[in-house]
Amino acid sequence: VVEKINNYYLTDYYNPSATYKPSLKIKKDLENARESLSKYLKIDKSELYFTSCATESNNWVLNSALKNKSCNLVISAGEHACIYETAKNLQNKGFDVRIAALNNDGTVNENDLISKIDDKTALVSIIHVSNETGVVNDLKALFTKIKKKYPKVLCHSDGVQAFCKIPTDLKAMNVDFYSISGHKFGAPKGVGALYISKKANLTPFVFGGGQENGRRSGTENVAGIIAMADAAKIYREHSDTDKIDKIHALLIEKLKEISNVQIIGDGAVNSNRILAVSFIGCKAEILQSMLADEGVLVGRGSACSSRHAGNRVLAAMGINQSVIDGTLRISIAPETSAENIETAIEKIKIVVAKLRGNKIG
Ligand code: PLP
Repeated sequence: VVEKINNYYLTDYYNPSATYKPSLKIKKDLENARESLSKYLKIDKSELYFTSCATESNNWVLNSALKNKSCNLVISAGEHACIYETAKNLQNKGFDVRIAALNNDGTVNENDLISKIDDKTALVSIIHVSNETGVVNDLKALFTKIKKKYPKVLCHSDGVQAFCKIPTDLKAMNVDFYSISGHKFGAPKGVGALYISKKANLTPFVFGGGQENGRRSGTENVAGIIAMADAAKIYREHSDTDKIDKIHALLIEKLKEISNVQIIGDGAVNSNRILAVSFIGCKAEILQSMLADEGVLVGRGSACSSRHAGNRVLAAMGINQSVIDGTLRISIAPETSAENIETAIEKIKIVVAKLRGNKIG
C-alpha cells in the first residue's frame, strides 16, 4: 500500500478537482477507489462518501439526522466514544437522546431497544462489532424489525470493526448509514468513509468547495483514499477466516488454562478479531505495561478511551468493577499465527503469576 500511495505524493500529486489533464487521471483513480470499496459493501458507488475518519462520519450522521428538538435519537450503551460523546453533546443541547441497554454478553438488548423507539425517533445508531469485546450485533434482524414497525426511522451503524472482517452486505442489513475507517484494515490513519443510502437524505456537515457531490467539502485525501481501497483488497485477500477462527479459539483455550480468568462477552457471536479477557485480581494497566516490556502489545479497552478511567461499555454489560480492572483487549490480525499465540500466552502466564505473587498459572 505504501509503495503504491507514494506515487500520489511524489508524482501524481495533482488536485482531483483541477481541470488540467494530469488531474483527470487522479479523479479517475479516486472514482475507481470508490467503486472498489463500494463493491465490498454491496452498494452503489454514488452512495459512498469519503471523510477524514470514522469519528467524522459518525459525527456527521448524528449531528445531521436530528432536524429539530421534537425528534429523538436512540443509541446503544455499547457505542464507541465518537457516537456516545456526540449523543451526549446533543443531549446537552436539549435533544432527546435515549440509550438502549446491553445484554450481559455485550449485544444490544432488543426489547429495551425497541421500547426506546417511537414515532418521533429520527435515528437509531447501533455498533456492528464492538471495539471493546469483538461481539457482533445482528443488524439485519434488528434494523428489519425496527423498520417494519417504524418505516421512517433511519438506521446507522458504526462498522469500523466489521468492515473487511465479517460480511458487510449493507443492502441486506437494511442500514441507511454506515461508517468505516481505513486504519482498521491497513490503510494510513486519517481516512474514512460514510455510506449514505440513496433513500436517505443527510445534510452536509462540512461546507465549502462542493467536493463529494456537494455533501462533504474539502480537497480529497487522494493518497489516503486510494490506500484505503488498496488496503481493503489486500486485507481481504490475506484474511483466511477459518484460520482466524481457529486462532481465536486457540487463544481462548490457552487463556482458560490460567486460573481466575473471565472471557468477556462469552456466548455471543464474536468477530474473532478482538478478545476482551479479565485476569481477575490483577490491574490491567500494570499487566499491559509488563507485557509490553516482554514485547506483547495488548490493549486496555478502546485505544481512544484508554486514558480515561473505568470502562463504560463493560460496566453496561453488568460486569463488576474488579473484573473490569483486570481486563485486557487482545487483537488478532490476519497474519497472527498459532506460534504468536503460544508465545504471548507463555509471557502472559509469567506476568500474571508474578503479579499474583504465586506459581505460574
Ligand atoms: N468506531 C469504532 C468502533 C472504533 O473502534 C474506532 C477507532 O478505534 C472509531 C470509531 C474511530 O475511528 P477513527 O479513528 O477513524 O476516527
